[in-house]
Amino acid sequence: MKVTFPHMGHLWLVLKVVLEGIGLEVVVPPPCTRRTLELGVRHAPESACLPLKVNLGNFLEAKEQGADTIVMAGGVGPCRIGYYAQVQQEILRDINCDYEMVVFEPPDAHFSEVRDKVKYLNRRPWQEGVHGVILGWQKACAVDDLEQEVQRLRPREASPGQADAVFQQALAALDSAANRKAIKRAVKETKATLAAIPRQADAPLLRVGIVGEIYTVLEPLVNLNIEKRLGSLGVEVVRGLFLSRWINDNLFKGLLPLPGHHPEKTAPPFLNHFVGGHGWESVGDTVAFARQGYDGVIQLAPLTCMPEIVAHSVMPAVQRAQGIPVMTIYLDEQTGEAGLQTRLEAFVDMLHWQKRKRAI
Ligand code: SF4
Repeated sequence: MKVTFPHMGHLWLVLKVVLEGIGLEVVVPPPCTRRTLELGVRHAPESACLPLKVNLGNFLEAKEQGADTIVMAGGVGPCRIGYYAQVQQEILRDINCDYEMVVFEPPDAHFSEVRDKVKYLNRRPWQEGVHGVILGWQKACAVDDLEQEVQRLRPREASPGQADAVFQQALAALDSAANRKAIKRAVKETKATLAAIPRQADAPLLRVGIVGEIYTVLEPLVNLNIEKRLGSLGVEVVRGLFLSRWINDNLFKGLLPLPGHHPEKTAPPFLNHFVGGHGWESVGDTVAFARQGYDGVIQLAPLTCMPEIVAHSVMPAVQRAQGIPVMTIYLDEQTGEAGLQTRLEAFVDMLHWQKRKRAI
């Protein structure tokens, strides 16, 4: 059995160690590129969510590398996430792409089913599997820690791109880290290298929060590297959603004490309950960013994403009440780099203007 999975930002680093921990041979899908997207778009229905199309491309590219089994998470809620796996399975069957699919539904609602699937996949003593899960969690936290540092550095570095180059080396070091000590060493060394990167003399910086649907927030191919673009425009980016937060919310039901935002406390009265996907978090995180004095918020969403459309519909009320500008960007396979860049530059200009006006 050669397993693969959907590519989403740096999630591969976590899933690889977890699946290897239970003794499986892992085919990491190649990083998402235009080819990945084109493959998915060619075979998926036009109206399907963008993440479904990209994941389909991941599976087709992983097939070229010998994968025969897909492991993926299912989902619940009022949007289309619950049908993802079934739709993808049908499409793959129609194009004669032979795959076995193992879908993990949320453990709180389907615990015995999850246990049976783990048993089916597992080829090692359970202690080794637990070790893989712990190592995966530690790697997720390390990636998030370093990525936040890189996001802070991007608008400040004297020579653009240095922090990203260091981060790529850190990902390789974290990938090969076999225990907690090696992970800690990789983090420590990377932070020291990042700290030594020359900075520009003081430039007027903006702080912008990124909220939205998890896939569009975490996958650079889909959001056209929006964080790097903002960094080069002098913007420090802080995300509402991180890999570790997503794992904590979905796998551990939020039991681990992670610092972060709490939509149940911040989203009301604008949005009082879960609306599927990350719509509730988008509203709650926007309020939290406003209260922390951020200059603006960018909401990212796949075109036609229902939960984010609901969140978008209440954003004008959030903007008025909290006094924070919010720009919503819908992304699909037609989204062009020039159009996105123009919108970002205009938004950043407006934030600078507003900041100057406030300072007078
Ligand atoms: S959250 Fe949005 S993108 Fe994800 S499945 Fe639901 S509708 Fe589609």
